[in-house]
Amino acid sequence: MAKDRLASALERWEAVIGLEIHTELTTLATKLFCGCPVEFGGQPNSRVCPICLGLPGSLPVPNQAAIEATVLAGLATHCEIAEWSQFHRKNYFYPDMPKNYQVSQYDAPFCTDGWVEIDIEGDGGPQRPDRDGAYTTRIGITRIHLEEDTGKMIHVGGAEGRISGATHSLADFNRAGTGLIELVTEPDIRTPEEARRFAQKLRLIWLSLGISDCNMEEGSMRVDANVSVRTRGESEFGVKAEVKNMNSFKALHDALAFEIVRQAEELESGGRVVQETRHWDAGAKITSSLRSKEEAHDYRYFPEPDMVPFEFTEEWIETLRAVLPELPDDKKKRLMTDYGIPAHDATVLTGEDLAMAEFFEAAVTIAGAERAKAISNVMLNDLSMHLNAAGISLAESKVVPSMVAELVALVEDGTISSKQAKEVFAEMAETGDSPGAIVELRGMKQVSDSGAIEEVVDRVLAASPDQVEAYRGGKTGLMGFFVGQVMREMGGQANPKVVNEVLAEKLR
Ligand code: ADP
Ligand code: ZN
Ligand code: MG
Repeated sequence: MAKDRLASALERWEAVIGLEIHTELTTLATKLFCGCPVEFGGQPNSRVCPICLGLPGSLPVPNQAAIEATVLAGLATHCEIAEWSQFHRKNYFYPDMPKNYQVSQYDAPFCTDGWVEIDIEGDGGPQRPDRDGAYTTRIGITRIHLEEDTGKMIHVGGAEGRISGATHSLADFNRAGTGLIELVTEPDIRTPEEARRFAQKLRLIWLSLGISDCNMEEGSMRVDANVSVRTRGESEFGVKAEVKNMNSFKALHDALAFEIVRQAEELESGGRVVQETRHWDAGAKITSSLRSKEEAHDYRYFPEPDMVPFEFTEEWIETLRAVLPELPDDKKKRLMTDYGIPAHDATVLTGEDLAMAEFFEAAVTIAGAERAKAISNVMLNDLSMHLNAAGISLAESKVVPSMVAELVALVEDGTISSKQAKEVFAEMAETGDSPGAIVELRGMKQVSDSGAIEEVVDRVLAASPDQVEAYRGGKTGLMGFFVGQVMREMGGQANPKVVNEVLAEKLR
């Protein structure tokens, strides 16, 4: 998808986006209504029992930890927690769901009316006309409810994982009955980038709470996107399509960009958008129609008769609020006040991966708070570029906090120049050796001894009498020329500060 096609569509149309995000409670020991263990993969149908298989006569027992996890999710996203709530049965047939109904929540979910703020670096285009460069916007959360996950179908005999061409299908119920929280946003999102940032932010909130591993590739966090377009200034929403099957943040962004352009072009050519579910094909980079959308009444929701309703007391909710961990927004503010780093740095350190802020604080603890900005600089530049280029996560990298702390200290005490620091970084990222060892081994020590530098300065000045004369005559811009000559003679290892001092002295 060419970026300019999206930008051009957004000039003409306003996009309206709402997300529905399912997150499996993978960190809980057991499933939602039975004692079967929660794990990924494994021998098919090895983690099942009469309850999660929906055998007649079996009775569900709600998992308190799953309910607590849902309420924590609501508290962390500024939701109201219901004083009274219940489970409903959502009836439909699908072969990966043994009971032919899913226990879910309908009109009495645990959490409603919350919000999450997202920081966008870059401009929001005409969709956010009053902002420029970077902005923060609040996305409303309609509800968060708890339900059980389905099993999985495996289609075999054809191309792997594809229904088309398969000769038969197998059912694996290991995942059936795992606790799943569903979060629905208000249609407050206006660009694919905002959708991506929202999903990333939510993942970090869930990870901070420790309620899921949020692994999009393994499907433990699944983002469905509702999207419509309308002419700018129009107050009614357009007809929306729901897009599924994005298994990365990039796929979410790209699928929305494709869909906005598709809808805009469809409407411009006199066609119309139909309400339907569309499937993102990551290979072909297109969405295609999957099925027309079901209505709520198709599901024949009714209250789950095997469980009593829930009444949460104020005290119980407050005990959960009291155990909320530090969340990304608070962490960002704290990094700014505790270490005096700018908002941009704090946003990057807390916005993508919990490990970044942890790494930063560990390095600052070793190097001292006065070196916080220098450490942040190394992390935002050298470290981020290294991770991107190698396509690895911070945890997979050989770079550890003590190495960055040491590197920054070596620059600060004048042992190496900041230019040499770049080389040392590249080498330590590759080998995992400490910066001190690399500097020693490669004889990279910066020369700060003014005696040695003076000798070279004298030689350089003697070799360039015309430039010396011109400098003394007022062409002070020649200082850079002299510094360059000295640095070259010394193989780049002279301390530039001392070189400048010695030159200024000699050229007086
Ligand atoms: P449905 O009844 O089709 O499930 P909902 O009103 O429950 O629709 O909304 C589902 C999701 O779609 C929510 O995230 C909501 O914000 C979003 N949404 C609703 N209407 C629109 C629209 N016209 N365009 C884009 N998103 C929408
Ligand atoms: Zn079970
Ligand atoms: Mg709905």
